[in-house]
Amino acid sequence: MIYLDHNASAPLLPEVRAALVEALALDGNPSSPHRAGREAAMALDRARAQVGRLCGRDPREVVFTSGATEANALALAGLTSEARPEVWVSAVEHPSALAWGARRLPVDGRGLLDLERLAALLEAHGQRVAVLSVQAANNETGVLQPVAAITRLARAHGVITHCDAAQIPGRLPLAIDADLITLSAHKMGGPKGVGALIGRPTPRPLLRGGPQERGIRPGTPALPSIVGFGVAAELAHVRPPLGPEARDRLQARVRALGARVLGEGAPRLPNTLSALFEVPGDVLVAALDLAGVAASTGSACASGASEPSHVVEAMGLQGVPVRFSLGPDSMQDHEVAVVAQALERAIHLWS
Ligand code: PMP
Repeated sequence: MIYLDHNASAPLLPEVRAALVEALALDGNPSSPHRAGREAAMALDRARAQVGRLCGRDPREVVFTSGATEANALALAGLTSEARPEVWVSAVEHPSALAWGARRLPVDGRGLLDLERLAALLEAHGQRVAVLSVQAANNETGVLQPVAAITRLARAHGVITHCDAAQIPGRLPLAIDADLITLSAHKMGGPKGVGALIGRPTPRPLLRGGPQERGIRPGTPALPSIVGFGVAAELAHVRPPLGPEARDRLQARVRALGARVLGEGAPRLPNTLSALFEVPGDVLVAALDLAGVAASTGSACASGASEPSHVVEAMGLQGVPVRFSLGPDSMQDHEVAVVAQALERAIHLWS
């Protein structure tokens, strides 16, 4: 199987698997006042330090959650006030952030946020906005948003910035200029079902009834998963970023088949290629699967349903794309050929 769906979930790293198995033996509750409890608490602290280091933030600012979906919800549900009741999001956010936005900020045909429009909107209505949420990298297209420029504009109006950076670690260095950052372990070779919200200010909790995670996320933490997340974060921090070479070789073949590459002309993740073909993406993804290639039509959450992608629509385009998202070991030359041939055959059969 040629696995080209790292943006949906990156395979568990062997170092993470080993750490997870070891952490299953931590029997104590990190809140308990005995040795087993202290050992569990130490493992939790270590993971917190690892995630803090990855973000360049104080570990005390790390709140572990069940993933990026929950981290986005915490940031976007828990910072509004009577004076500032609104949450603004870009029109290409992941659905878990999009769901909270009273206003969706437009992007251009490359998928980049329109900064002039944002400046004008902030000038007119910024005093009612609590938090502005813009992702670092789009999961479907890989397009990278100008987060630092967006934060500068927002801060001038007293607006808190939140950045869903789930797609950055394991692909690019994580250098995010935003007040709050969302991460998800399984996008960087960690386990599924664990993530974090990192930064300030402190949001109101979604759950009640416990002091864990400074009361922001009550409930006994998922310790083995968090330990695995910590190791994945450490590795994402020390390993070199991915290069675009393999993706670019595939992109050249895809373009030769007449496909339109999404986000061309914008800075993009080095591992992501999303393209619109003359054949619907779900047909091509099924053909690729039969050829032993795992790709997807965009976000895993949207696939299976035949709804058009809100990301493609926000860019003023139509159609179901195919997304290839590579990992560090993806795409030897012969694999590029396998993918290109499978696409070519399917297009030929369809037309
Ligand atoms: N944000 C982005 C940018 C994502 O790619 C994803 C996963 N598709 C999520 C949020 C949701 O992450 P999780 O699965 O950890 O809830």
